[in-house]
Amino acid sequence: MPEPYAFIDNEFKKASEAKISILEPTVTKSDAVYDTLSVLDKKIFRFDDHLQRFKNSCADMEINIPHSDDEIKDIAIECIIRSKYKNAIFMLIGRRGPYSDLSKRDPRTCKNGLIVVVVPHYNIFGEEKTKNGLHISIVKNKRVPKEAIDARTKNFNWMDLNKGLLEAFKQGSDSAILCTPDGYLSEGPGFNMWIVKDRKLKTPKGNVLEGITRRSVFELAAMLGLKAEECYLEPKDLETADEAFACTTAAGITPITHVNNISLGNGHPGLLTERFLKMYWEEREKGWHGTDLSS
Ligand code: PLP
Repeated sequence: MPEPYAFIDNEFKKASEAKISILEPTVTKSDAVYDTLSVLDKKIFRFDDHLQRFKNSCADMEINIPHSDDEIKDIAIECIIRSKYKNAIFMLIGRRGPYSDLSKRDPRTCKNGLIVVVVPHYNIFGEEKTKNGLHISIVKNKRVPKEAIDARTKNFNWMDLNKGLLEAFKQGSDSAILCTPDGYLSEGPGFNMWIVKDRKLKTPKGNVLEGITRRSVFELAAMLGLKAEECYLEPKDLETADEAFACTTAAGITPITHVNNISLGNGHPGLLTERFLKMYWEEREKGWHGTDLSS
């Protein structure tokens, strides 16, 4: 049975054997950046785009990965091949690494490193939600302001997102959308969002991760001749949208059918949303933006 595979401390290992010290700030301070990529039919989706975003995240947090771009790619590909999964999700993690002197807590003294971990492909929302749609709550808990942590830096500091998620679960929803401290829609725990109004697509601008799936939606919209833009959006824009959907590497495109326990439109996935969902996976299957594992 294939097992999740990892690269850590410059060695390839089964993920179940990969260990990290509880003394290092990667764990005690959530001091790590990462990127999540998907592999469909042995093709890595938008490898260069993810790698570029990963390097930007590392640069913002001053985490120096001791490998070249080509080495990072080769390590990731080796992990995927060793895991034997045809369809997989993998993470590139830039870890702060262990302190050289634990008592000083000086992040500059840490030995930074790369971790890669590959697991079988999954969908964070599940197939039923992809078909029937998500119930979303616009939660009270706010996204950390960009002056503190720039959401474009994909990082392990998920306290705001997880608090939002717990709040949404208490309201009986499947997930959350958080707002910025000044009240604009931002994103959810692990996904960007889109609304459709009068056949135009809009996605929040501001403190959001510039999602690779979000970027792909811009491209799909262009292929369909539809207008798509990023702009400041308020909760009422989502509540009164014709359609809405979430997008992420970890699920693709997922319709949003209920907001704050009220149905959006007729409470069923929107027609344009379904078109994007279908097109996204069809294009992926055709190898759109794919890097073959054997190349
Ligand atoms: N927003 C956040 C906070 C995320 O963690 C993610 C992905 O994990 C996304 C958005 C979606 O980004 P991508 O499409 O690159 O997976």
